[in-house]
Amino acid sequence: MLNWEDSLQPATGTAAPRHSGNLQDDTALAPSQAQSPAVAPSNSRVRAADKRIINGQTDVNQLVPFKYKWAWEKYLAGCANHWMPQEINMSRDIALWKNPNGLTDDERRIIKRNLGFFVTADSLAANNIVLGTYRHITAPECRQFLLRQAFEEAIHTHAYQYIVESLDLDESEIFNAYNEVPSIRAKDEFLIPFIDAIADPDFKTGTPEDDQTLLKSLIVFACLMEGLFFYVGFTQILALGRQNKMTGAAEQYMYILRDESMHCNFGIDLINTIKLENPHLWTPSFREEIQELFKKAVDLEYAYAEDTMPRGVLGLNASMFKSYLRFIANRRCQQIGIEPQFAQEENPFPWMAEMIDLKKERNFFETRVIEYQTGGALSWE
Ligand code: FE
Repeated sequence: MLNWEDSLQPATGTAAPRHSGNLQDDTALAPSQAQSPAVAPSNSRVRAADKRIINGQTDVNQLVPFKYKWAWEKYLAGCANHWMPQEINMSRDIALWKNPNGLTDDERRIIKRNLGFFVTADSLAANNIVLGTYRHITAPECRQFLLRQAFEEAIHTHAYQYIVESLDLDESEIFNAYNEVPSIRAKDEFLIPFIDAIADPDFKTGTPEDDQTLLKSLIVFACLMEGLFFYVGFTQILALGRQNKMTGAAEQYMYILRDESMHCNFGIDLINTIKLENPHLWTPSFREEIQELFKKAVDLEYAYAEDTMPRGVLGLNASMFKSYLRFIANRRCQQIGIEPQFAQEENPFPWMAEMIDLKKERNFFETRVIEYQTGGALSWE
């Protein structure tokens, strides 16, 4: 079974009281500290019980006392999983790519389409966090995770750039794919309005409508971007790795997949805690809107699967992804408390679950680094 749901531990707080006013301006959150920075009166000390994920009125500069321990634990887990792209040896990939008989045309198409999507996808994710999500989240332990996540998105963009550079691909072709390849452009056009909505400098939470706008954006990014739009691409490159092809690229994708499944799990915990604290946001019409977004996202990702695999390749074909995407979408719906949208689907790629659980000492592709749990101190074979 996939272990995506392993860490769903919503906070136990009661529903948040409604607040009004501009809560995005950090200085406005803690006027007493701003006016007398030396010693805050004891009655203004932050109490964990007063913290809220959105529209909170406690000091966002004060990490402790913790309320949302799941966020802090995910921050620590993200740090323990630290990796850098240039640690991975690309020489076998380069030799295979340059060998005219090393890969089929269909395999090369998959690789170029894949990089074409991902070289900009993680920049979208990073900008969404830094320019949008971060300033609307008022729990500092959640902000701490978002800071780590933003750096991981930068590492991912670095990884894709490193693969493009190593293989000496046409950078202009790959980095412009998000404008020029319709199946990629369609996914990005689906996402960009949700970034723009919350990155607008005039956007503020604090009304039910605006809070729903933020919640919708969080759902789109966690469940549909990081939780669905990445999975055709991840599966394809990891399928290459399983056949001992492009093993350096595949190893980087494994680390990215591990990071992304953490981002997805964090996002789901965030969404569920906002729901707990603000049950009035979870209206029938809002849920219907989310269901429509799930259906649209599955259609877009399936169109991308068809475009990247006009024929069967690597034991994969587009129709297998129809089942896989429905399977994933149903899981995501369950994780956030939405009625699953599709008839029960089998997972055609059970081996992907092993790829997500990378904690084991295992070297899938006979490359090198096998254990990142100690951060800077890597062990090498
Ligand atoms: Fe991510």
